[in-house]
Amino acid sequence: MLDVLVIGGGISGGSAAIYTAQGGLRTAVIDSGMSQVKQVSQLYNYPGISEISGTALMDTIKHQAIASGAEWTEGVVESVTQIDRVFSILLADGKELAAKHLIIATNLQTTLLKGLGFELAVNEKVPSGKVKKVLGIEPDGTTTLPNLYITSLLAGLSSQSVIAAGHGASVGISIVSKETGKSYMWHDK
Ligand SMILES: Cc1cc2nc3c(=O)[nH]c(=O)nc-3n(C[C@H](O)[C@H](O)[C@H](O)COP(=O)(O)OP(=O)(O)OC[C@H]3O[C@@H](n4cnc5c(N)ncnc54)[C@H](O)[C@@H]3O)c2cc1C
Repeated sequence: MLDVLVIGGGISGGSAAIYTAQGGLRTAVIDSGMSQVKQVSQLYNYPGISEISGTALMDTIKHQAIASGAEWTEGVVESVTQIDRVFSILLADGKELAAKHLIIATNLQTTLLKGLGFELAVNEKVPSGKVKKVLGIEPDGTTTLPNLYITSLLAGLSSQSVIAAGHGASVGISIVSKETGKSYMWHDK
């Protein structure tokens, strides 16, 4: 069984996977490859990087997650159930996975969340009024379902890449800290 399964390998899910894998947890990402950031020809507002294309940023995050030890699979998750604190995940190709912790980082895609019984509302931080957030979610991404975390816009945050990356990292750190029983910090030398 996986320690952590991340559904959605965009900015927030990829970032979460970097942290959980680096923290020693067996981590897998399932991603359908449609990160919104790939629509951005050049980003100028990602701190520390003067300018980068959305595709290059996404490729780098994926590379960092894999280098940290995460498995990365292209695919679509069709359904999620939780029985006795174990998540069962069914992919469109029929493959099944089991995980202790689940991170839903699917951004605009809310089907899985509705299937799990979450209520959705408009994310007021996005002016179009078309983007949803989950009701009852905590700032750290935790939800009413044990060991299930939700990131980024779905957690009611603003639509900016650095915020998505930071929230994913924060969720990853929370999970590693919970699993190891001590506050996780990643300090390179
Ligand atoms: C036109 C446009 C311009 C933007 N410009 C900027 C900008 O200049 N600067 C900036 O900071 N931000 C910008 N953004 C915002 C930025 O793209 C988002 O903040 C960021 O991508 C959100 O990250 P995320 O992880 O929440 O979602 P995403 O990066 O969108 O990732 C979600 C991932 O989940 C996957 N997924 C969904 N459902 C499933 C499923 N069932 N199974 C498997 N995978 C699934 C998708 O394929 C996708 O890869 C822009 C967005 C748009 C649309």
